[in-house]
Amino acid sequence: MTITSVRPSTSTELEDLDRRHIIHPLQSAAISDRVVIVRGKGSTVWDADGNELLDATGGGLWHSHVGHGRRELAEAAAQQMERLEYFTSYQEFGNDRTVELAVRLAGLSPGDLNKVFFTSGGSESVETAIKAARLYHARRDEPDRTWIISRYYGYHGANYGSGTLTGFPPMQLGVGPNLPHVEKVSPPYLYRAAEMYGDKDPTDFLIDELEQTIQRLGPGNVAAMIGEPVMGGGGVLTPPADYWPRVRQVLDRHGILLIADEVITAFGRTGAWFDSARRLMEPDIITTAKGITSGYFSFGAVLLRDGIGDTIIQDMGFFHGYTFSGHPVGAAVALANLDIMEREDLPGNALAIGEWFKAGLAPLADVPTVGDVRVEGAAAAIEMVTDRGTREPMAFPDVFGLTARIRAEYGVISRPYAHNIILSPPLVMNEEEVRRTSTAIVEVLSRAARGA
Ligand code: PMP
Repeated sequence: MTITSVRPSTSTELEDLDRRHIIHPLQSAAISDRVVIVRGKGSTVWDADGNELLDATGGGLWHSHVGHGRRELAEAAAQQMERLEYFTSYQEFGNDRTVELAVRLAGLSPGDLNKVFFTSGGSESVETAIKAARLYHARRDEPDRTWIISRYYGYHGANYGSGTLTGFPPMQLGVGPNLPHVEKVSPPYLYRAAEMYGDKDPTDFLIDELEQTIQRLGPGNVAAMIGEPVMGGGGVLTPPADYWPRVRQVLDRHGILLIADEVITAFGRTGAWFDSARRLMEPDIITTAKGITSGYFSFGAVLLRDGIGDTIIQDMGFFHGYTFSGHPVGAAVALANLDIMEREDLPGNALAIGEWFKAGLAPLADVPTVGDVRVEGAAAAIEMVTDRGTREPMAFPDVFGLTARIRAEYGVISRPYAHNIILSPPLVMNEEEVRRTSTAIVEVLSRAARGA
């Protein structure tokens, strides 16, 4: 057998080999472009052709909080690798870095969420949370509490558990059977209030629906509800202020746990260390990943209330874990990343980014294919429609085409998701970069709407 070692020398060669060998996440026949990113600094990345691109997506997936190319994080990883690259955290073992990080997270998190389980990413965090919720009830002699309630338009991951909770049907089509005992309810989607809730107050409608769903499943059969405080992938959907407190009341009445999926929102994206605290959600469990290391290491953490953490380790214990749960390099990077975010007040800058976007994107009010613009700190969604009257969502390939144009004509990376254009820049983005991003989007969308 011969082993071929290739070092592609041209960008075309790289792109061809990529097409030949790599299956990309969310790859589809509609997408033929290949953009091979090779370097990054701050809010800027460069492709294999040397093109400079402004990254208004935070590394693509809302995760790059401190920006690209931070030597401090590379050094934190290198130092930890030299000292101890990895040793398991199973059973009696542990490492100093995860202890330090767990204490820090417990200090930052709301309420008594002082127990931490480490993972390698968001989907693993969500799997862990739903297992912990079911097990908590089982250990308290309520083994029938197995149903998990999630919401349409919610994103919770791609594994069989988390992927079933995700409220986008393509995640479940053709790969079933999916996780049993998952039920979905409507999201707080104010732009589509009339079509979703009729003339009812949105929160009243959603609370009634939740209560009816719980009654239908049987209150003693429901383990938990999971939701993002502000829905990210669904298109930056911020709920009415009374939504989470009222959801919490309903769940409390029925002994159901609340899981806040903060994989996007934790660590400053919306201006708070934990967005759930601001929305008065009072979660029992919080899932995190992404911004915890700003993408410099594949890492996540689940925070649980003391009572839940204590309960699931009783009896047979929590028979759950991944080889790389509690990775010391991930923890060292997370600690250094949190240092940067605190030192540079990146949650504060996320709020400033939000204000700059609101101003910069204001001219979209005159673009007929833009239905709604939603900004929440350093997260924004531009909802594209074919017609403002009917609010008919624009087809994905057309939205994709617009983001490709924004990149090709202005060197700005934005992200198409369903019928939204998503902006989730690094939290270090400055005012001039936000202005460039906004201008690029306004100009392309305005011209495209005129057929130019
Ligand atoms: N939860 C939320 C809210 C997310 O946005 C994501 C990823 N976009 C996940 C979970 C899954 O995380 P991962 O892709 O790291 O598995």
